[in-house]
Amino acid sequence: MDLPKKVVLCEVGPRDGLQNEIKTLNVDEKINLINSISESGFKVIEVGSFMHPKAVPQMATTDEVFKKIKKLDGVEYRALIANIKGLERAVCCGAKKVKLNVSASKAHNLVNLNRTPEESVASFKEIVTVALSNNISVSGSISMPFGSPWEHEIPISDVKKIVNAYLNEGITEISLSDTSGMAVPNQVYNFCVDMKTDFPAVKWILHFHNTRGMGIANIFAGMQAGITWFDTSFAGVGGCPFVPGASGNVSTEDVLHMLNEMNIETGINLDKVINTSKHLINILKHTTDSYILKAGKSKDLIRKLSSVQESKQ
Ligand code: ZN
Repeated sequence: MDLPKKVVLCEVGPRDGLQNEIKTLNVDEKINLINSISESGFKVIEVGSFMHPKAVPQMATTDEVFKKIKKLDGVEYRALIANIKGLERAVCCGAKKVKLNVSASKAHNLVNLNRTPEESVASFKEIVTVALSNNISVSGSISMPFGSPWEHEIPISDVKKIVNAYLNEGITEISLSDTSGMAVPNQVYNFCVDMKTDFPAVKWILHFHNTRGMGIANIFAGMQAGITWFDTSFAGVGGCPFVPGASGNVSTEDVLHMLNEMNIETGINLDKVINTSKHLINILKHTTDSYILKAGKSKDLIRKLSSVQESKQ
């Protein structure tokens, strides 16, 4: 089976995870978590978002957090923005990477913004121009390309229109975000093969929420299609305000554990990630869907059984 030898995991827990938690972490708690994630070996970390504090109160302190975290060389610290105000805050914080988002759902866009998803992307033109003039690179995200609560199925031709709109703005790094947790593995595989064929210049990132337990299987399907960049969230924290019962992103330690066991390189220290995720769970005071936090690593289990055997002898 052809699988990549190396994979890049982008830790999105500090943004996508924490923005959906009831408890809002304070600045020091966030800084400690992000610093320990940096030290675990991640090369991409989504630190937070620059949204209106009333819209996303959990992210109100992103400016201070962004300024105060330790920035390691070779690590990309990115932030999600929605408009020019968000970009101005990113500039003030010295951010080098921002991410824009559009929903693949035409119905959702028309009701909320009175424009199609492609028109939304075209409206990002000013943001992209100002970002580039400040040496900030821009990536784009498309949420719900694999299915939305409004249309259920989104025609792939509609998603391609959005990709073209991003390319028109010079954005070539695109994340496909299964926010609604509706993607299934054969769909992901076919979708990614099709996208890679039509848009060979795009750097694709896959972003799965584990709402229906498909996150890790979808990542595997993505790898089979040759995708090597994936978003994950420490402890699997998070959710989605539009989707009842939505889970967070597939948990970082679960994905990392699978990749380690499959000898796929990430450069990330799993033990350090597990410690950070345990620390986070202690702060949030609730458990999550993370399998590794519940069951531990397979290798630990082997050690435990052999020590039982030794004690019997
Ligand atoms: Zn998400």
